[in-house]
Amino acid sequence: MSYAIAPHAQPGIPVAGTDLRFPVHRIYCIGRNYADHAREMGATVDRANPIFFAKPADAIVTGNADVPYPTATSELHHEVELVVALATGGRDIPVAHALERVYAYAVGLDLTRRDLQAAAKAKGNPWDVAKGFDHSAPVSDLHRVGDIGHPQHLPLRLSVNGELRQQADIDDMIFSVAEVIHELSKFYELQSGDLIFTGTPAGVAALVRGDHFRAELGDVMALQGRII
Ligand code: MN
Repeated sequence: MSYAIAPHAQPGIPVAGTDLRFPVHRIYCIGRNYADHAREMGATVDRANPIFFAKPADAIVTGNADVPYPTATSELHHEVELVVALATGGRDIPVAHALERVYAYAVGLDLTRRDLQAAAKAKGNPWDVAKGFDHSAPVSDLHRVGDIGHPQHLPLRLSVNGELRQQADIDDMIFSVAEVIHELSKFYELQSGDLIFTGTPAGVAALVRGDHFRAELGDVMALQGRII
């Protein structure tokens, strides 16, 4: 059978050092995964109840492309994060076997309409419009586990217009990458092509049109772009 309307192109991320693209299936994110960020948001960390939310797969922005300032906000915030790309999935994945599912890593921004998130929190409403908007997930090229291993003890940084805004070691994550995969797989049967944003450290702040951002994981990978 033919499609009733034209299907959309498969969102994909370039794989560094290859001419391959990684097909993105879904995007999951964990909130409050660095204690200093939870504090700056006035939140407490509850290891028994990790906070998950999602973005549409086509929210990715690749190739260091410009990022359009979103509608319906006057407080667009940056959240620099380590991003995990899964080669395989599963449900109830044990921590000890979680990293076997990882294909590659990237550095990305979980862009957030902070004003809408604050309003949603105050009313007990969902976060979707604050988190899952168009172009809300700029990501670097993917770096395969076979090339870089599983990153540990590396500084995650974000600079805006050359000024350092966020910096932490990825070892400061409350839930490790393996633990995030384990916890998320209790709620969803994870699939090949799924991306996971693993949370942001302190220093989240506003971006405005014209800002140039640069995110880095040590000297292993980088993402840059401009808000237009
Ligand atoms: Mn985040």
